[in-house]
Amino acid sequence: MNYNTEILTADSSSIRKAAGLIKNGEVVGMPTETVYGLAANALDESAVAKIFIAKGRPQDNPLIVHISCMEMLDGLVTAVPETAVKCAERFWPGPLTMILPKTEKIPSATSAGLDTVGIRMPSNKTARALIDACGLPLAAPSANLSGSPSPTSALHVYDDMNGRIPCILDDGRCAVGVESTVISFEDDAVRLLRPGFISVSDLKEVTENVIVDKGVLDAVSQNAVVASPGMKYKHYSPNADVIIIDGSLDSFRKYVSENSGGNTWCMTFSESDLSGIDCPSVVYGSSDKEQARRIFDALRELDKNGADKVFARCPQKAGVGLAVYNRLLRAAGFQVIRL
Ligand code: AMP
Ligand code: MG
Repeated sequence: MNYNTEILTADSSSIRKAAGLIKNGEVVGMPTETVYGLAANALDESAVAKIFIAKGRPQDNPLIVHISCMEMLDGLVTAVPETAVKCAERFWPGPLTMILPKTEKIPSATSAGLDTVGIRMPSNKTARALIDACGLPLAAPSANLSGSPSPTSALHVYDDMNGRIPCILDDGRCAVGVESTVISFEDDAVRLLRPGFISVSDLKEVTENVIVDKGVLDAVSQNAVVASPGMKYKHYSPNADVIIIDGSLDSFRKYVSENSGGNTWCMTFSESDLSGIDCPSVVYGSSDKEQARRIFDALRELDKNGADKVFARCPQKAGVGLAVYNRLLRAAGFQVIRL
């Protein structure tokens, strides 16, 4: 692993070049509407192994497989439940991953030994063009070093992957900013394994029966049996010690003024949250969608500023906010102060 990593503006010639690399068993940085991914041929065990090495990803954490059309699903999965067909019609292309029973065609390196595979059809045009140009399903986890905040720009990918991959397709900032919603199917119920832009109420338009898995909001131990292996791992963490402050703006202001000092920073909804209080802050937005777009960039910026401790205003926990809260909880190692 010692590449001269290039950042290429995502146009037709760079997409062709990236597709050539992927068909040759390499890994490239791919934009999607959620976050940037590290894409490789999902059907090639040794290409997939390179993803795990580039990220330093635990071997038992499976990869999501990206397709560009429904025909590509043929041969990858053994069954598609009726609810999954409805979800595909309603939400694909888009930020939804469905866990389905896999065929032999998906190597066990991709599914981390599970007999299921997560499938997604992204809506980002570059991602779709790249999959089309490869004519292959692409395995692609988020393009960060394992444990770090996910990348939402090509520069974020470069910061983590410089030297580890040959190129990154630059398609600007990600429109959504948090990873896909991950669901599995049980009879006619949908189980939410990871919240994302497709919210619980969106899923309820397809079926009333949506179960939010316990792992979405609760910490799970390293040796627990979980519905989705990714739930076990430390995620999205900056170097700073992040603490979520769950309470009103007044109580947040009071807490910060009494407890800040040293190299403490805040993550706030707006500039005015801390007016008159002497503590530096990074703003991550006031609406759920804006917070989703900016959360990872904010966490990376706090690291760049050398923050030791971060007091973060708690996002609302509904809609896309559930995804923001889920990511922030993990970045904070589940440290929440309720005021
Ligand atoms: P990432 O691609 O890094 O955003 O992570 C993918 C997420 O999807 C992880 O939390 C995985 O554990 C989860 N995932 C992928 N495939 C499966 C599967 N077959 N069953 C359950 N969870 C999965
Ligand atoms: Mg990830």
